[in-house]
Amino acid sequence: MILHIDMDAFFASIEQAINPRLKGKPLIIGARASKLQTVVCAASYPAKILGIHSGMPSRQAFAICPSCEFVVADQGKYIWTSEQIFELLKGYDLPLNYASIDEFQLDVSGHSDPLELAQKIRAQIYANFNITASVGVAKNWLLAKLASKLNKPDGISLINDANLEATLRQTSLDKLCGMGGKTGQIFIAQGLKSCWDLYLNLPAFFDETCESFSENPGKSKEKPKSVSHSYTLPNSERNPQVVCAWIRLLSEMVATRLRQQNLVSSTIHLYLSGPEMGNFGAQKTYQNQTNDGFEIYQKALRIMGKLATKNPRIRAIGVTCGSLAWGIYQPLFKEEIRREGLVKALDRINNRFGEGSIYPAITALTRA
Ligand SMILES: [Mg+2]
Repeated sequence: MILHIDMDAFFASIEQAINPRLKGKPLIIGARASKLQTVVCAASYPAKILGIHSGMPSRQAFAICPSCEFVVADQGKYIWTSEQIFELLKGYDLPLNYASIDEFQLDVSGHSDPLELAQKIRAQIYANFNITASVGVAKNWLLAKLASKLNKPDGISLINDANLEATLRQTSLDKLCGMGGKTGQIFIAQGLKSCWDLYLNLPAFFDETCESFSENPGKSKEKPKSVSHSYTLPNSERNPQVVCAWIRLLSEMVATRLRQQNLVSSTIHLYLSGPEMGNFGAQKTYQNQTNDGFEIYQKALRIMGKLATKNPRIRAIGVTCGSLAWGIYQPLFKEEIRREGLVKALDRINNRFGEGSIYPAITALTRA
């Protein structure tokens, strides 16, 4: 049995827990500070009921509800809360999966009363963070995730063999994980409406096991202290474009390694050495965690700072990512989501055709 724990309107609820004046009100979390020139990053339930949803231009949201409250998204706060909830769940000593910033899954197969456990977890989350979670209980993660949506917000729902047919009949297909987008549209075009229609036509889809379940990651795997790549050039190099290209390439290599290990980093260290300058090493810790090569590269350039303008000859370059945490990096903003899609596509191509098959154009300079 799997428990799928899904936080209710997570970002909005955190803001409401901090500022009770916002409680029960339609609330928009904006991606940027400019109230009318941003996109809705998250919405509270009263705002959702009015038809406001994430990804919507905020101007449109305020046209629907001019009196809506507005708060700028604070990634650090949400990630911190998510980590604290994850720590709390680790305490149950059951196989645990970090599904997303606001979704967690526990394998409760050995537990005598999963519903009681679900209730206990919900109560504990509410007591500690003053926010609510909905929990779905079912034999596999796909059904458990679906169940978590059926009694939202602040509810529990169980799908078992006895109510499977009735539940799936009542639930439209787009509610099912993986059926929200194009795949779902194909099935809907074929005349399938409810989850039950899919079950009758494609029962194997519902046989999802929990293979992807990692053991409690905090306990089973040792987390490395840092991930780094360095390179010594055959000759010292004065052309800043070539130096930057190498920093970019090393940043991408470090980022790939982070993603392979499901890690994110908040501390970037840059090492440079050359015949005149000697050794330079500096690091900076940022509030946001990342495993994106371009972001690591930009941060490394910031660390290089004024040194870059001196155009020193460079012989060795190293990029290191430290302050590592398990992969909880969740892109909040549209551009980041687009970049993440790009990064995943790059990983797929590099995995298939060998590392380095595709890298951003600037790194081509390193092959000169
Ligand atoms: Mg949620």
